[in-house]
Amino acid sequence: MKLKTTLITTLVAITIGTTALHTASAAGNGYYNNANAALSSTEVEVMLFMREEEKLARDVYDTLYKQWQLPIFNNISAAEQKHTDRIKSLLQTYGITDPLTDDTTGVFITPELDNLYQQLLVKGQVSRMDALQVGALVEETDIMDLQQAVANSTQANVTNVYNNLMRASRNHLRAFVGQIQHQGVGYVAQVMPQTEVDAIINSPRERGNGAGQGRGQGGQGKGQGRGMNQ
Ligand code: ZN
Ligand code: ZN
Repeated sequence: MKLKTTLITTLVAITIGTTALHTASAAGNGYYNNANAALSSTEVEVMLFMREEEKLARDVYDTLYKQWQLPIFNNISAAEQKHTDRIKSLLQTYGITDPLTDDTTGVFITPELDNLYQQLLVKGQVSRMDALQVGALVEETDIMDLQQAVANSTQANVTNVYNNLMRASRNHLRAFVGQIQHQGVGYVAQVMPQTEVDAIINSPRERGNGAGQGRGQGGQGKGQGRGMNQ
């Protein structure tokens, strides 16, 4: 069963939704205090959304790790913690109030993310293979949303962070798909175009500039999931 609900829907709604509403939410609710705004209200909304989307990835992996004890979930969850922290720093840089006042696993402000989290867990708790498929789905979705985020970004430092997160997501996708294929199952793209997914999973793991990685030797099977916390 494919999960049709994706974060992209939410992001597109946020990006394309009424300007008046966004001006009101970004500027009027106290999230954005910088009068000389370098960022448009859309860029602010995207940043707020990505902060929470990276938390969602972390929470899904933490929960699936508890159930299945597959190391890949633990390793990649640590990376997602760094990702959501990177967005938090960006928010600080631009004087935007962090929307995440409650860091508890499974607590979300955006109703669509709350919904998605529940759906992903329902699927991920069926079997180990379903859990791995959920991992790959989260990464595909993250890549697409980060592509949108980059397309909307006008600030080099922000674009840089999104690109770094996207590279990590491609590595995470490679890791999840590697484990799926290791069980003799071919991988069918879930939300991205199949050709784009194939191009990623058929290319080697990318090295980043993230400190503290360096163990991800792009190995197959047993070594998978290590060195993923960039
Ligand atoms: Zn991430
Ligand atoms: Zn990831």
